[in-house]
Amino acid sequence: AKFTMVDRETCIACGACGEVAPDIFNYDEEGISFSVLDDNQGITPILGELEDDLMDAHDGCPTESIKVSEKAFACAKVNVS
Ligand code: SF4
Repeated sequence: AKFTMVDRETCIACGACGEVAPDIFNYDEEGISFSVLDDNQGITPILGELEDDLMDAHDGCPTESIKVSEKAFACAKVNVS
């Protein structure tokens, strides 16, 4: 499984991720993307076909704002010292 969250500081609201992964990404009123799976927390495992969509979105993001990890992001943060 993979986990994802959008770096909303670097997202430029280009709209690409929602095109290829509409079940994962949506936009706020300013067009900035977030993961709809868990309100951009990066703690919901992404499985099966959604994983392919996620990697397409990750590869297509012009600003590398779509972060992907094998671990939940909340757990990853704990390990950063
Ligand atoms: Fe933002 Fe990247 Fe999605 Fe474009 S593809 S809206 S820059 S996260």
